[in-house]
Amino acid sequence: MSRKKFILSHGATCKNWTWSWSFINDEQKIIIFGAWDRYTDGNTTLILSEDWSIDTRGKKALGYDQSREHIRLIEEEGYQLMTFPLIYSNSNRDKAGIGPAKIKGFEKTLTKKSLTHIAGCWYATDSVIKDTLPEEVIEPNEYLEGVSKTIFVNSFERNAKARAACIAYHGSTCKVCDFDFKEIYGDIGEGFIHVHHLVPLADIQKEYIVDPINDLVPVCPNCHAMIHRTQPPLTISQLRKHIELSSGI
Ligand SMILES: [Zn+2]
Ligand SMILES: [Zn+2]
Repeated sequence: MSRKKFILSHGATCKNWTWSWSFINDEQKIIIFGAWDRYTDGNTTLILSEDWSIDTRGKKALGYDQSREHIRLIEEEGYQLMTFPLIYSNSNRDKAGIGPAKIKGFEKTLTKKSLTHIAGCWYATDSVIKDTLPEEVIEPNEYLEGVSKTIFVNSFERNAKARAACIAYHGSTCKVCDFDFKEIYGDIGEGFIHVHHLVPLADIQKEYIVDPINDLVPVCPNCHAMIHRTQPPLTISQLRKHIELSSGI
């Protein structure tokens, strides 16, 4: 079965079967995005980025406006987001990485997803149970293996773009204990750090966009684990106090 047949079999369509990135079933209020393997991390997939409005040749990307409108329908008009897995191939690209993405294959499974908007990127995350409050929709909590315990983190702490912006501004030294992975481990430690999200999830509204400089802070995995020992989590200065008290400074 072709991708087109698969999409049509779900009552969805698009403006153009060659360049469209997403599909719509108006009757059932469903928007379908392909979830590229290369943009998928666990249960979270980057489905649209403002950066994609221009293609690799520097031209206006044909699929972007349609997909942006599809995103709007999900955000503002209650359309349900669904995704199916897409397998990427770069065989259409030249050595410089220029050229269209090619679909190597896809899976004929549609999954209901929730939409999260962070720093110009839209992510499909695991769907939540229907009757949840809007504030809970953007709380796709995930577990991250820490050094001393499993840390309960939220999607903002795992978002690659927000992380990068946080580290570019704050550096990759722990804001609590000043641990620097490069200094101790050499090259292998360069750039390694966790980021901690300072805004309590309960305070986050549906339209919240993470501010990587004010809302995220670099912390080492040990301090990160200690921050999340309490509920609500400790603040940076509270944890610093704990260290100072225990070391008698
Ligand atoms: Zn630390
Ligand atoms: Zn955290």
